Amino acid sequence: MLQGKSALVTGSTSGIGLAIARALAAQGANITINGFGDKDAIEKERAAIEKEFKVRAIYSPADMSKAPEITEMVRTSDQTFGSLDILVNNAGIQFVSPIEEFPVEKWDQIIAINLSSAFHAVRAAVPGMKSRKWGRIINTASAHSLVASPFKVAYVSAKHGLAGLTKTVALELATFGVTCNCISPGYVWTPLVEKQIPDTAKARGMTEEQVKRDVLLAAQPTKEFVTVEEVADLAVYLCSDAAKSITGANLSIDGGWTAE
Ligand code: NAD
Repeated sequence: MLQGKSALVTGSTSGIGLAIARALAAQGANITINGFGDKDAIEKERAAIEKEFKVRAIYSPADMSKAPEITEMVRTSDQTFGSLDILVNNAGIQFVSPIEEFPVEKWDQIIAINLSSAFHAVRAAVPGMKSRKWGRIINTASAHSLVASPFKVAYVSAKHGLAGLTKTVALELATFGVTCNCISPGYVWTPLVEKQIPDTAKARGMTEEQVKRDVLLAAQPTKEFVTVEEVADLAVYLCSDAAKSITGANLSIDGGWTAE
């Protein structure tokens, strides 16, 4: 379905981003992966994408908190493959703390990585998409783009902002064959979720088991974590021709969380 197209997925060395990159590659798209992690492990993932899906894959080490690196990553992706057709703004981090103790540098970092990076990447990718009259921009938002939870002030603010960015970009590009949507997962079992359990336990005075059961899964009527593959399949659908009229949408994939 995506032969001849190229996709850039930020924060794709792990979790949801890696699943989306692999799912787009499975449809024939050439891939730029990005994110931090062990050098050898990243190279293994990159090579595996090429081998398994018979596409080309490159890796960009760009730091999503640095605008010039983001612009350069978009340019490299575009030049390497001759176009950048699909942009998935997925990189994200979390920090959990009561607001009065929330470190200012963590606020700045989360706003930069979870929100501003999407602005910089979209800004750089849009001219090419507009000129080719085809593009798909997908932002990994969160149930926290629609509802809040205590102790996550920066994350919730950034994700609500990302939902607003999505709608604005969708309107600007509506007549150019370019869609822009966000996917809003509930809790997906990835390192991002695993790592916040000890701090949430501390902030709420609970054990880690209680956090999993009474905070995370309590939010989800299905009582199950969403899987990375389910999120990736939704991203693939948004890249299909069948989804060409879906733009400016915030698509929940949260086991019913935000229906409550
Ligand atoms: P993850 O920790 O597995 O992956 C995060 C990715 O972002 C990694 O590849 C990491 O290297 C990368 N990254 C972090 N900081 C970066 C930076 N400065 N520059 C470049 N890359 C950077 O987490 P995940 O759960 O897969 O999260 C992916 C996205 O999904 C995030 O935006 C997150 O907010 C969102 N999300 C996750 C969940 C969940 O429950 N896991 C729910 C809703 C939304």
